[in-house]
Amino acid sequence: MYKGIAASRGIGIGKICRIIEPDLSFEAKVITDIEAEKARFSKAIADFVEETNAMAEEVRKNIGPKEAEILLGHAAMMDDPAMSGEMFSMIETGQCAEAALTAVSDMFYGIFSTMDDEMMRQRASDIADVKVSLLKILLGVKDVNIGSVPEGTVLVCKDLTPSMTSQIVKENVAGIMTEVGGPTSHSAILARALEIPAVLSVPGIVDSVNDGDTAIVDGNAGDVFINPELDVLSEYIIKREDFNKKKAELQKFIGKETLTADGDKLEIYCNIGTPKDAKKAMECDGEGVGLFRSEFLFMDNTHLPTEEEQFEAYKEAVETMEGRTVIIRTLDIGGDKDIPYMDFEKEENPFLGFRAVRYCLAHQDMYKVQLRAIVRASAYGKAKIMVPLVTTVEEVRTVKKLVAEIKDELRAEGIAFDEDIEVGCMMETAASAAIADLLAKEADFFSIGTNDLTGYTMAVDRGNAKVAYLYSAFQPAVLRSIRTIIKAGKEAGIPVGMCGEAAADPLMIPLLMSFGLDEYSVNPVLVLRARCIISKWTKAEADALAEKVMAMATEEEVKAELEASAKEI
Ligand code: PEP
Ligand code: MG
Repeated sequence: MYKGIAASRGIGIGKICRIIEPDLSFEAKVITDIEAEKARFSKAIADFVEETNAMAEEVRKNIGPKEAEILLGHAAMMDDPAMSGEMFSMIETGQCAEAALTAVSDMFYGIFSTMDDEMMRQRASDIADVKVSLLKILLGVKDVNIGSVPEGTVLVCKDLTPSMTSQIVKENVAGIMTEVGGPTSHSAILARALEIPAVLSVPGIVDSVNDGDTAIVDGNAGDVFINPELDVLSEYIIKREDFNKKKAELQKFIGKETLTADGDKLEIYCNIGTPKDAKKAMECDGEGVGLFRSEFLFMDNTHLPTEEEQFEAYKEAVETMEGRTVIIRTLDIGGDKDIPYMDFEKEENPFLGFRAVRYCLAHQDMYKVQLRAIVRASAYGKAKIMVPLVTTVEEVRTVKKLVAEIKDELRAEGIAFDEDIEVGCMMETAASAAIADLLAKEADFFSIGTNDLTGYTMAVDRGNAKVAYLYSAFQPAVLRSIRTIIKAGKEAGIPVGMCGEAAADPLMIPLLMSFGLDEYSVNPVLVLRARCIISKWTKAEADALAEKVMAMATEEEVKAELEASAKEI
């Protein structure tokens, strides 16, 4: 058995398919039959154009027209004589197609990548992509087509990138295993959104398995079995049935209010990354959106999204939620989230650096475009603004000042917006917890981001496997911070939510109920489970458990007690 990080719930059993980046090295040859080599290269280009256009059509259907444009641009690039003409000229001097392709692409890459214009730099990475695709064709290297793996496949790869995830056909992939990534990495978030069991950060797994091996992926416990004995396989087939049955039973909570066992009303919201996800939030019966990660609009783009583009996206999310609250987090970039066209400087400690609200307040013209788009979208439903990575009162005051300026401008222009649009604080730094009482006087609401709060409280890098043992929201230090933040919010009379992954943790929920958390924002697929867990606990039971647990000194004791007290769902 291999151990990894349980990143997406469920039991997956199937046959392994490894996704391996192919070796594209080649030996440059001197060509004697120039015409034959030119014909070989022409054929490779024709195949590339055909494959790329077909892929663009798939992407247009499954993802969107904007993403398809990128691929269509790649196909068009090889029709450009400036590019292919140079390559053919080199072949005429006796160089092989692989060498000509590499030399010309690298030359253009060098020119474009150093240009000031961001569109031109983007062209450099397009050239690099085209080069790799054409080399694969010339060398006869086959890519595993993730989109066409057969039903019951367990994908094994070093890392699962968002572009790989976009090709996955959910019905065919039984499980996912990777060598990197933690429970809050984007690959984990995407796997959960697809409801595919996933275990991440399994050391050396790619080289330890073969295509066609049978694998069990236990996304609940973080365990992986390769070619298991029959008794283990039978045990997990039963576990899988049990898990799937429980999941089906949760359907009875659909359309119901979120009530504690005493009948007190709480709320389950959803975390989303794109306006389209708002549909999923509605389908999964979310009572609102507690976190719209707006940076996806910036990351899946080749330029800064304009006010109109952003407005349309926020409006779509707000309208889809039909009057339910939509908390839009303003741009949270830097740290692990890079945006190529924004030219971030390399920093020694990016997680402690120039990121999120710090970056936005230093680029107020850019930030005001986003704030204006959100304030305008507030005319179409219930939008709220959330500020990430707050560490000082001044940051919140400055954002509120900018919002007030925008409101004045919109009033003067006769553009509609919600006069009462709220500005809240994302509570995810040790500083914000320490000054929660001061921030509560400035903010209209709090939302606790436990993913970062855990990291910043424990001084642990979210992605560093060596210190992962410290990264737990059940650490007494983190639990105390959460309790302090909720208490400060309650005392100031503002609502407090949680949008970090801990809000969906069955062991954490009774503690949060006891602390007085109002709103739990979770991945859409976890709405019903969270609602079910809340329905099992009375406030008195949750308080008794919290009292016991908050007196404990170690994470181990805390977890053991919470596990022993957990209620069957
Ligand atoms: C968090 O930090 O808890 C959070 C929800 O934000 P993100 O995971 O996007 O940093
Ligand atoms: Mg965060």
